[in-house]
Amino acid sequence: MRPRAVVIGAGSAGSVLASRISAAYDVTVIEAGRSPMAGESVLDASRTWSIPAELAEGRAWRATPGRAVGGSSVVNGGYFAAPAPDDLLRWRAAGGEAWAPERVLAHIGDLAARLGVHASPQTHPISRAFADACVLQGVTGTLLPLDTTFRDGAPRSVADAFLASSPNRIEVRSNCRAMRIVVENGRAVGVDVADADGSREVLAADEIVLCAGGFGTARLLLASGLAPTPSLRRAGIDVVADLPGVGAAFSDHPTVWIEWLPTAALSEAPPHPEDVDGAFPLALYLSADGTSGDDLEVLVCTQPPDADATPYGLVVGLQRPRSRGTVSATSAHPLGAPKIAYGYLRDPEDRAAMRVGVRCAAGLLVSTAFAGVVERLVDLTDDTLGDDLLLDAWILEHLGSASHTCGTAPMGPETDPAAVVDGAGRVRGIRGLRIADASMLPVVPSRACGCRNGGRSDRRGADARLAVAQARASAMSRAFVMRRGLTGLVPSTTLPRECSFCRSA
Ligand SMILES: Cc1cc2nc3c(=O)[nH]c(=O)nc-3n(C[C@H](O)[C@H](O)[C@H](O)COP(=O)(O)OP(=O)(O)OC[C@H]3O[C@@H](n4cnc5c(N)ncnc54)[C@H](O)[C@@H]3O)c2cc1C
Repeated sequence: MRPRAVVIGAGSAGSVLASRISAAYDVTVIEAGRSPMAGESVLDASRTWSIPAELAEGRAWRATPGRAVGGSSVVNGGYFAAPAPDDLLRWRAAGGEAWAPERVLAHIGDLAARLGVHASPQTHPISRAFADACVLQGVTGTLLPLDTTFRDGAPRSVADAFLASSPNRIEVRSNCRAMRIVVENGRAVGVDVADADGSREVLAADEIVLCAGGFGTARLLLASGLAPTPSLRRAGIDVVADLPGVGAAFSDHPTVWIEWLPTAALSEAPPHPEDVDGAFPLALYLSADGTSGDDLEVLVCTQPPDADATPYGLVVGLQRPRSRGTVSATSAHPLGAPKIAYGYLRDPEDRAAMRVGVRCAAGLLVSTAFAGVVERLVDLTDDTLGDDLLLDAWILEHLGSASHTCGTAPMGPETDPAAVVDGAGRVRGIRGLRIADASMLPVVPSRACGCRNGGRSDRRGADARLAVAQARASAMSRAFVMRRGLTGLVPSTTLPRECSFCRSA
């Protein structure tokens, strides 16, 4: 008889992982959400969780990761990029040789091919105006045309590409929620699950893999008593294993949308290819201190953020935030919402960097390059831009999150007391339990620079001015320019190509 694996979460990571291990295991995938229906809007609220959180002091928020077969891959922005070199090196340092950069990149290349990743066309008037504005304003940075998973107006679901097309039989139990991991004598032996009708059962397993996403995986660890002892005690949860790194220092990209109203000419223009091929065709990477870094991203969006709203937006993101967030338990009930504090902009350098990004993006939008596109900014005034205190208040009011939550259960070497898993995703001190999703990445990766055609890197244009000049010549689809080398973005899956789990399978 083949061993049985239970994978929790049919999202980006769970779909790939289940497909890979199904050659050696009978796999059951537990997914709290349902299968998305054909023609359903990407923005349908029933596809996401809605978890109360605090982005910064006094700034309430609802985290909305995907809750569906396909997970966040069915609700995300669909732009696809591979990790930057420093992120790759950080992963190898934390996870060992299974995370060697060439292996990770090869895996990402396979993933891109299966997902049908393709280059965003660079013909939209917003993209063109943005590139021209960078030239006009003399911005020092790197302009990068982005790849996308979009087809026919929606991102490609990783579940469709991997789970549904797996050659081996995988049982997917949708609308079914994992409540708790059952641990006996230091070994995970089963998963307590609740079906949509409320019925409960414990699914026995030889191997359990958590792929419930940055917050979902942390929630399950907390509910199962596998977390920092003080946090568990405060919530009245029995301590099964003291894992100080669970929820202790997660990171994500803070964002601010600078909204603008379109000119009549843009509103009345016929749809462009980006309308179906991806909402985020182009990004500018720059450094807050004016050097060659990539700690800030200004992302071009060619669609209004909300289908019912008129304003468009440029998205300013902090790609290498210093501030960290926490996830902790508030109650012993497995359905009790955790306390999530992103801790955004707590570090003064993060606040200063965000000011630089917002000023730069606003300067681009009001430049003459955008004259035929932007009627006016919605609520960002010169007075606000000119005063640090006013601008900080404006940023706080408009603060959002890119939903790239990482590091809620970080991997690391044995010597790292905060490490929750090793490079093969094995949870410290608990046999038969692994983690293989975004929660194990120690720090949110930056996503500067680009990866095209399946992870193939291209170091052609290392000079930002060259990039901008190329953009002005409207040759952006070939420009593919980068300053620092490879690219960085939260990868859709994090399991390395040859981890010991796959080898042992
Ligand atoms: C709105 C949004 C936009 C984004 N844009 C981009 C982008 O443009 N490009 C990019 O690369 N990345 C983007 N991301 C990030 C990217 O989608 C995630 O990093 C990636 O999907 C994480 O994969 P994961 O498998 O860790 O989690 P997910 O894909 O979120 O999967 C987790 C799954 O686990 C399920 N689950 C959770 N708890 C339980 C439980 N107790 N029982 C059963 N099932 C459970 C969830 O319902 C979900 O389906 C975006 C994310 C969001 C939310």
